[in-house]
Amino acid sequence: MDRYQRQIMLLGAENQKTLSKSTISIVGLGGLGGIASQILARSGINLKLFDPDRVEIHNLHRQILYTEKDIGKKKADIALKTLSEINPEIKIESCSKRITSRNSHLLDGSDLVLDCTDNMESKFLLNDICLEKGIPLVFGAVGENFGMVALIKKGGPCLRCFLPKLDRTTGILGATVGIVGSLQAELAVRYLTGEDLSGYLFHYNNLEIKKIKIKKRCGECE
Ligand SMILES: [Zn+2]
Repeated sequence: MDRYQRQIMLLGAENQKTLSKSTISIVGLGGLGGIASQILARSGINLKLFDPDRVEIHNLHRQILYTEKDIGKKKADIALKTLSEINPEIKIESCSKRITSRNSHLLDGSDLVLDCTDNMESKFLLNDICLEKGIPLVFGAVGENFGMVALIKKGGPCLRCFLPKLDRTTGILGATVGIVGSLQAELAVRYLTGEDLSGYLFHYNNLEIKKIKIKKRCGECE
């Protein structure tokens, strides 16, 4: 029986081959990255993983890649081990460096980047790096019981066009993180298999998802 049998029933064998040849960089292996990386690994996509942090006790309520025995260990190392056990057929690289403008070449060769970071500074940095490199970016953010997901591409509206520069630490529910991380994985798979949903913001709030058209307006992404 093929590992991807039920997925091929929906996507077709050609699209499965495309997924198997694709590489996604996941920046941030916390709540969003933890769920998205598992879905994407299981679906047969090669991964590059980035996170500079170590597992802490207060991560465990929402970061489903980790257990208590991982506390103090590097997230990138644990993620590599767990995801390799989930799907040994894909290629996975992991790196415990923080992505900056100086080492952004680490993202080269990716077909898509997933922004699973937890702060605005990193989000705007990834937006700028990916637009410059021409790599599509799936942005994701979550706070309290709402979240947002969007596919950002060169030529279309960017993060600065719809996201105000707010930075505050909020409470977060594990279930909301799971929904938003899953939406990021779905946007990524849809993009790689030919469905381009750039130009829309998917806004999740209190069990409802709204698809909102976004326009270029920041003046920087012409
Ligand atoms: Zn813009």
